[in-house]
Amino acid sequence: MNERRGVQKYKIPVRQRPVEERIHDFGEVELVYSSEEARKEALRCLQCKNPPCVEDCPVHIKIPQFIQKIAEGNPHEAIGVILEDNPLPSVCGRVCPQEVQCQKRCTMARVGDPIQIGKLERFVGDTTEKNVIPGDKKGKRVAIIGSGPASLTCAGELARLGYEVEVFEALHGLGGVLLYGIPEFRLPKMVLEREINYLKALGVAFQTNVLVGRTVTFEEIRRQFDAVFLGTGAGLPKYLHIPGENLRDVFSANEFLTRINLMKSYHFGEYDTPLEVKGEVVVIGGGNVAMDAARSALRMGAPSVTVVYRRGREEMPARIEEIAHAEEEGVRFEFLASPLRIEGDGEGNVVSLLCQRMRLGEPDEKGRRCFFPIEGETFSLSARMVINAIGLETNRILLESMEGLALDAKGHVVVDETLQTSLQGVFAGGDVVLGAATVILAAGHGKQAARSIHQFLS
Ligand code: FAD
Ligand code: SF4
Ligand code: SF4
Repeated sequence: MNERRGVQKYKIPVRQRPVEERIHDFGEVELVYSSEEARKEALRCLQCKNPPCVEDCPVHIKIPQFIQKIAEGNPHEAIGVILEDNPLPSVCGRVCPQEVQCQKRCTMARVGDPIQIGKLERFVGDTTEKNVIPGDKKGKRVAIIGSGPASLTCAGELARLGYEVEVFEALHGLGGVLLYGIPEFRLPKMVLEREINYLKALGVAFQTNVLVGRTVTFEEIRRQFDAVFLGTGAGLPKYLHIPGENLRDVFSANEFLTRINLMKSYHFGEYDTPLEVKGEVVVIGGGNVAMDAARSALRMGAPSVTVVYRRGREEMPARIEEIAHAEEEGVRFEFLASPLRIEGDGEGNVVSLLCQRMRLGEPDEKGRRCFFPIEGETFSLSARMVINAIGLETNRILLESMEGLALDAKGHVVVDETLQTSLQGVFAGGDVVLGAATVILAAGHGKQAARSIHQFLS
């Protein structure tokens, strides 16, 4: 290998488990770079003076600097550079949509492949340890509601600054979507456990099975703490509103994935929560949630899985890598199709999904092509299970119980530039503010909110 920068035009591929092996279990699909592979990939980076990769990363990680540390064989220094801007490198390296963020305009893409920034970030996160240095005690207490990436990041930053932090989570496990939504084959739960153990070592306290707004009121929490961070996400499924939606074996993707990821239905016997996938599965939607549901259904033993999406492949919001993995694993796609009716056998079981054929029109103001039904063109897909993955919104149980909290028309929490809500000392971030977004945007908000809380309490 030539040690000069940028000589190697094409990426060092990351090793993957073979399809025939991986579709029978929930083990991770992609392996981490070895030290040598990471160094070779790092040596491809041109160390641009005005790096577009940094501009395109939502939290502006100093990408050339951390890559240079890897090229020098020094991942233990690289981690320090990454942590200045992103507290969750092992998670983001795996799940960020790099192709539309940091890697999109990488200079190396002009002559070959972009630098594999996400894979390098994951390498650093997986192979190094973070320092546990809690700050000097401030004698002030902060409550954090929810335990997704926004909350975990906010908790970590505040604990490092010396605040006493307590996290309240409605579910019996910690991590939000990282735990119950994104499957093991994309994000092993030990990666998340490592993050949470790190926070525990920093002194963060966690309480599970606490649905704030029901188990305890928001006002009780507000009275006991000096500031509050709201990171309750957007976990409520949107419904299809078509006939047949109430049949047995019609699931929202969130319920389907929660039963698998959180309740471990694939270990039925060891765990008490079965999920029977006994025939053809149809998944409706075109995002990461749809890909996760489809690939999980295959692993649960579905003889066939078809994804129905109303636009074309180009318009799918899912990560390119996830679509490619789904295709490799045998997931089929029906593009330009929209569900009309779920048909049953008269005894509550699903037998098919009736779909409307669509066509694409001109791009809308956001650049996405609109779609129209083609009159009279319908078709039917055989199905024993239908999974709805058309989108998520905020759950209002807590939000509507918080007197004086301003929400916008979509039910998202309104915040100012410091992420403070309309209630003094109450900050919010992640999906509850942005609507269903991404892990790195949630983590970025968590970090920004921690700084604002620190300022507010100083
Ligand atoms: P969440 O992760 O939603 O966490 C919120 C937490 O708050 C939950 O644990 C919830 O139980 C808890 N909570 C809610 N209400 C209360 C209450 N009243 N009291 C106590 N606790 C409460 N993003 C990517 O960047 N890449 C991906 O590949 C990707 N894949 C995804 C796949 C799936 C299946 C899903 C659903 C989302 C995916 N996303 C992905 C989006 C990403 O996971 C979210 O944007 C991110 O998790 C939002 O983080 P958050 O901290 O705001 O909220
Ligand atoms: Fe890229 Fe995400 Fe890492 Fe930013 S956080 S450098 S977007 S992988
Ligand atoms: Fe390296 Fe690409 Fe960033 Fe340039 S744009 S510094 S080549 S990663």
